[in-house]
Amino acid sequence: MTVKPAQVMVVTPHPDDAEFGAAGTVACLVKDDKDVVYVICTNGNKGTSDRQTKPEDLARTRQQEQRAAAETLGVKEVIFLGYPDQELEYTPELRKQLVRLIRTYRPETVITVDPYTRYFWWHHDHRVCGQAVMDAIFPYARDHLAYPDLLEEGLGPHKVNEILLFNTEEPDYRVNITDTFDTKLAALRCHRSQTGAFGQELEKRMRQWAQENAREEEYELAEAFHRIDMWW
Ligand SMILES: [Zn+2]
Repeated sequence: MTVKPAQVMVVTPHPDDAEFGAAGTVACLVKDDKDVVYVICTNGNKGTSDRQTKPEDLARTRQQEQRAAAETLGVKEVIFLGYPDQELEYTPELRKQLVRLIRTYRPETVITVDPYTRYFWWHHDHRVCGQAVMDAIFPYARDHLAYPDLLEEGLGPHKVNEILLFNTEEPDYRVNITDTFDTKLAALRCHRSQTGAFGQELEKRMRQWAQENAREEEYELAEAFHRIDMWW
């Protein structure tokens, strides 16, 4: 395994989470010449109300949709871990996979879901993903004595500078996405199996949400995060 540095890593439970929660921010980072890598933990194979759709077909569709959305945003690489939807479990294997990726891409910033929401978007896979990512960053990716086999492979310790948690109940950091809102919308529309049914409502809802996030700002549209500035 060789080291392939990218400044930003986005880790999500499902295909489409990154677009709903952080695509405007991702587009801003890409504009700023940052390399962004996506890691999608599950294959999204249960995300339908259509009883005719087979899970394996849905997984394939959602992978294509996620690739298209990432391309729209200028994301450099998309990695699919392929766990079944709704069955992401916090295992030593998952944590090690995440540590391996963090040590390979060595991001300054990691964007993921807030695992600690109580009354908003408390999806099982979101809790597991957010917790496993935070644990992978600290202490496991940092400490050379964690996973000596990775060290032997050339994947030494890495310190992430900041974590941005989206879908949060405690937002304390906002990104101005006024100029990238249209790109966010275009990326969301790539997830046709998830957003197709919204039609024009999608833009309206996304705009309202972004306006709400920006209500105390000088600009119109924002994405909101809980930001953790790592202290090392
Ligand atoms: Zn999700």
